[in-house]
Formats: sequence, C-alpha cells, structure tokens
Amino acid sequence: MTHLEHVLSTRAGDAATAAPHEEWPTEVREILSGWGRALAGACRVFRPSTEDGVRAVLDLARRTDASVGLRGAGQSYGDASLNTAQVVLDVSRMTRILSWDPGRGVIRVEPGVTIRQLWQYVLEDGWWPPVVPGTSHVSLGGAVAMNVHGKNNWKSGPIGDHVREIVLLLPGGTRLRASRSENADVFHAAIGGFGMLGCIVEIELQLHRVTSGDLLVEPIRARDLGEMLGVFESRMSEADYLVGWVDCFPRGRGLGRGLVHQGRYVDAPDGIASTSTLRRAHQELPDALLGVLPKSQAWRLMRTMFNAPVMRAINSVKYWQGALHAHHTYRQPLVQFSFLLDFFPGWGLAYGPYGMIQYQSFVPAARAERVFRRQLELAHEAGIVPLLGVLKRHRPDDFLMSHAVEGYSLALEFKRTRANREPLRGLTRRFDDLVNEAGGRFYFAKDGTLTRDSIRPLLAEERTRRFAELKRRCDPDTLLQTDLYRRLFA
Ligand SMILES: Cc1cc2nc3c(=O)[nH]c(=O)nc-3n(C[C@H](O)[C@H](O)[C@H](O)COP(=O)(O)OP(=O)(O)OC[C@H]3O[C@@H](n4cnc5c(N)ncnc54)[C@H](O)[C@@H]3O)c2cc1C
Repeated sequence: MTHLEHVLSTRAGDAATAAPHEEWPTEVREILSGWGRALAGACRVFRPSTEDGVRAVLDLARRTDASVGLRGAGQSYGDASLNTAQVVLDVSRMTRILSWDPGRGVIRVEPGVTIRQLWQYVLEDGWWPPVVPGTSHVSLGGAVAMNVHGKNNWKSGPIGDHVREIVLLLPGGTRLRASRSENADVFHAAIGGFGMLGCIVEIELQLHRVTSGDLLVEPIRARDLGEMLGVFESRMSEADYLVGWVDCFPRGRGLGRGLVHQGRYVDAPDGIASTSTLRRAHQELPDALLGVLPKSQAWRLMRTMFNAPVMRAINSVKYWQGALHAHHTYRQPLVQFSFLLDFFPGWGLAYGPYGMIQYQSFVPAARAERVFRRQLELAHEAGIVPLLGVLKRHRPDDFLMSHAVEGYSLALEFKRTRANREPLRGLTRRFDDLVNEAGGRFYFAKDGTLTRDSIRPLLAEERTRRFAELKRRCDPDTLLQTDLYRRLFA
C-alpha cells in the first residue's frame, strides 16, 4: 500500500498524523467552510500543483472507494466545494498562465488562476474579463464550473459564453477536450455542472477589449421595487453594467427602494488605449481605510455594525445620499466598480460566529416584482430582515444546468444567529415555494438551504435526466461528489 492509499483509507481523524511522502501531495485533515461560514465540514484536503497530481488523487481515491469533491478558491457561499469526511481536491495551486495572445485577447490558463490574477495579467494590454462576479478572489475553474454571471448578464451572458475550450480530466483518467465543436454535450454540461463531470484542468477564454480602465458610472434612485425594475428596463439598451442595491429595511410604500448603478465602458475616440487608467496602480484601492485602519482589520469594525438597527440607519443614509447625487455621472476604475467588497478582506467575518446565508433566486421578468416583494414582506413578518439586497437582470443561456432566466435575480443576505437559524430555514422554504410557483430558478453557488423537495421541479425536468446520463458517462462510479450534490441529488 502506498502512503497515499494508506492516508485515503485512514479515518479522517487519524489522517493528520500520517507521515508525509515526498512523491504524493501532502494530505491533511482540515475544517473547510463555504464563504458564508454557515456550512462547514472536516475534509481530507489535497492541493496538487500539476495535472499529474490531480490524476494521482483521482486515481487513488477511486481505488480506495473515497469520493472526491473539487474546490477552487472556496468562494461559493454554501457547501458546493465541501466533501465532509471525504477527499477535497483543491486546485488553487494550479495557477499557471499557459498561453496569452495580446493581439486577439485569447488566454489559456490552469483552473486555479483567479480573476484577480487574470485582470492583473491582461489589463495593461487592453483586455478585461468579459464576465466577473462580485469578488475577484474566485478561481477560473470554480467560475466556469458554476458558470458565474456578472452585472452585465442580460447583455454578455454568463462566463461560459466566452469560454472557447475546456480540458477535463475525467475521474477514470481520460483527458477530454470540450468546446462548441468537440464533445459539445460535455462542454455545455460541465460549464455550470458544479464539478460533477470532471476536473477542469485547462480553460481557454476570449477576453473583452477595453481602451480605458475606467467606466462611466451613473447612480439612479428608485423609490420602490417597481421603480427599480422600471429603471433596469429603460437602461438595458444603453448600459454595459447594471446593478441594483436594495435597502431591505423600509416597509409599505418604500419596500424595495434603493439605487441602481449603471456602468458604461469609456471608449477612447481614436481607439488608442489610455495606458495610465489600465495600470494596476490606478485600479487598486488604498491599503488603509480613511488612511488609518488597515483594510485587513476592517471586518472587526464592520462586525460591530452588522446588526439590524445600525444597518437600518446606514442604509437610510446611503439611500438619501445616493438620491442627492443621482444622475451625477463619474468615472470609476473597472476593479473598484466590479469588486468593491474586495476592499474589505474577509468581510464575511463581520457576520459573526454563525455566518450568513445568501438567498438568490431567479424569476421571469413578468413575475419578478410580485415574488421579490413577497419575499421582502415575509422577511419582515418573520422579523429577519436581510442586511443587503442586490438586484440583477439576466437572460437565458444554452448551458444544460443553467440558473439564468429571462428576468431578474434578487440576492438577499441574512445574518445567521443562534436564535434565528430555525426561523430562517422556515423563511427560505417559503421563498422556495414562491420561486417554484413563478417558474423561477436557484443558483448552487449561493445555496446553503435548498432541499430535494425545493428543487423537485428541476429534478423533474428533462435536462436533469440528461445531466444524470452525462454524469454516468463521465463518472460511472460517482467518484465526484460534494455535500451539495448529496444534499440535493444523491
Ligand atoms: C463576495 C462574493 C460575491 C459573489 N458574487 C457573485 C456574482 O456576482 N455572480 C456569481 O455568479 N457568483 C458570485 N459569487 C459566487 C462565486 O462566483 C462562485 O461561487 C464561484 O463558483 C466561486 O469560485 P471558486 O473558485 O471559489 O469555486 P469553489 O467555491 O471552490 O467551487 C465552486 C464549484 O466549482 C467546482 N469546481 C471548482 N474547481 C473546479 C475545477 N477545476 N473543475 C471542475 N469543478 C470545479 C466545485 O466543486 C464547486 O462545485 C460571489 C461570491 C462571493 C464570495
């Protein structure tokens, strides 16, 4: 028995004491959690730095009957990258740029390359990732596996729309190229397939050309949810990015009030890139808050503010200040507009020891106002008001397990406490019913609360049967599993 076989067959609790072996990835038992820190588990974690290392872990896990959960940067909110008491194959050390063509904006990377690493590498050549989530700390493997969307989803689709090719290492050891013209069925299922078909070991991506590192940003006030949806509809044709911040505290006439921020690319009239705005120094935020508090410590300050009375007051100030400056257009660096929350490293810690959950549902446009209003009303009735709400516009895409609809998503962030854990669970069940009745969809990257019952409509869909068929083809022994997979599909 090799060392790794020994370690894999050891109970999780004993694994940390096993002697390391230089030929194999170091294995340790770690408590891993999702980004929201509401779900966690003790896993046996491997962090290979090469494709051979990935192959070795898959191979030996197969021979020792362990299941393997894939993990990128661990930025999914719930349990999508956890595999409690089993193996987690973390690819965050696979961070090589394999090729870069600055003339065409085509880049080929290993899966652990983060969006941050990507923009820092390409921006000065006049290219920007076409789709980015709200944090730059995600890996491209994780972003592709969840088919992430940005604040431009209605216009640019999900990240999968910009992927030219992926290479998957299937659990049986086969290396499979997949693109729109080769193994197209696997391509459309592995993108958004939450790591269930194979480990993505290479990604080729088409980037978006920019001649300036700035956006023109215009804040627009919305007095309630209906008005906010109206702003989105009227701005979709001219905007490149649209995002709605919802103040979830007011009830009655002000329910769903907030601010929409519209971003538009700044095009240099002569097409010649403005190098000063493309530089990293222009994009990055300062290291200290107000020039004093190191940003790594900002979450401590934020923790004192993450409670309903203080957040109600802060939201109110933010809303009225925004209303005052509405329609005053300003220039903002792409990074600051896209990843403002990255300015506060580890800000999720501000939610306290029980973490948080984010509930994001996707609802067809015609029913969005009714469903999201009702969600906010139910939250108020339960006395658990979301501290943050974010509205986005979406369009459908052709990936098999897509979460997008022709409509809207509302992401609601709830602080979990010892006292509200059970009522919060009940509240999200009621949300699930509303979303299902409206023909809406859920997003596994954010999920920590769905049950098999909540996704019954999805389980009954033909696409789920096709996905299960592809899983049987790519992973006949069901080697690839996560806590999320077992919770919803097993
Ligand atoms: C502050 C914040 C803001 C966010 N904003 C957005 C947003 O605006 N839009 C959005 O869409 N999402 C958003 N997200 C969610 C995030 O983009 C996704 O969860 C993303 O998948 C995380 O990438 P990761 O590298 O951390 O992957 P992980 O969380 O580690 O894994 C995600 C999934 O990918 C699988 N996986 C990981 N690596 C591979 C691989 N190499 N091959 C195959 N499967 C793999 C895992 O098994 C898991 O199922 C946000 C998250 C945070 C924390």
